[in-house]
Amino acid sequence: MSFKSIIGQDHACQVLTSALVRGHVPHAYIFTGANGVGKRTTAKEWAKAIQCLQPPSAGESCGLCASCEKIDKDIHPDVLHINYDFQATLKVEDTEKQINLKIDTMRAMERLLSFKPYEGRAKIAIVDPADQLTEDAAHSLLKILEDPPPAVHIVLLSVDSHGILPTIRSRCQTVAFRTLPTAMIEKFLTEKHGFPPDAAKEMAEFAEGSLELALAAAEGSDGAVMDYENATVNDILEWCAQLQRPKRSRDDDQEPSSKGRRGRIETEKFLKRLLLQHQNRLYSGELSAQQTLQQIMDAMRKVRQNVSPQLTLEVLLLSLRRHAGAMNHPSY
Ligand SMILES: [Zn+2]
Repeated sequence: MSFKSIIGQDHACQVLTSALVRGHVPHAYIFTGANGVGKRTTAKEWAKAIQCLQPPSAGESCGLCASCEKIDKDIHPDVLHINYDFQATLKVEDTEKQINLKIDTMRAMERLLSFKPYEGRAKIAIVDPADQLTEDAAHSLLKILEDPPPAVHIVLLSVDSHGILPTIRSRCQTVAFRTLPTAMIEKFLTEKHGFPPDAAKEMAEFAEGSLELALAAAEGSDGAVMDYENATVNDILEWCAQLQRPKRSRDDDQEPSSKGRRGRIETEKFLKRLLLQHQNRLYSGELSAQQTLQQIMDAMRKVRQNVSPQLTLEVLLLSLRRHAGAMNHPSY
């Protein structure tokens, strides 16, 4: 992996590479753009380029040295991931319970950044999601940015940079990540993942510009995509039932109990994709997505609390279909 492997973000990669080549890397960046368009991957590639032990050329990483390998695995001691996982560990809580980044998390980050790099050239913190900081946390981050320790770089990942304090924004260089054209995602799925053109087209349209979403759709459950807005009630019920059934080829020999487990796992995967899709819609200004997000999160909670995944999914999709304007589909 290197910047070259990042799809459709030539401008962002160009901005980052040229700063690396010039040797003038700002203390802080804001990467802004929809979910799943490559911000996180790019932040890691950029960290690799800074820390690489044998860079093939300025602004590049080898992808093979101990440092690159540790960053790929998220275990480099000088590349901190300040996210909900990190916060959950601090608070001994579940990652799913975290809804914003708190001041204690910023303080923990500040403490970690105050140490000299253990083995790298600099300390790097990737804050994600930076548009979900509490007010206290934002002020704490601002203080760090006002007087950054030497050899420290901070990258703020955000879907909506307006969710970040203007005083923070003014201390960072903003790098915009674009939503990927459907044709580009389609091409990627057919050429790199060998998907048949029809399936690739369907997944690319579902993904609405997010490569991560397209890959998740491609990866999971035969690319389980449900166009509930245009499906009949029967289609939805049949699809929900289908999702619970073990896959023939792989699960033939497994005991019957694997059915329930698969249903739960596949349902959770599908709900996550649906969540990501609607988060992106919300950030692109579709305010009605807010209510849908709430419904999806309620469904996720139910599945986790052992309510039947099939039933939960049926109720959710039928309700979403109704809201989406089932008036256009009077016959089912
Ligand atoms: Zn390397």
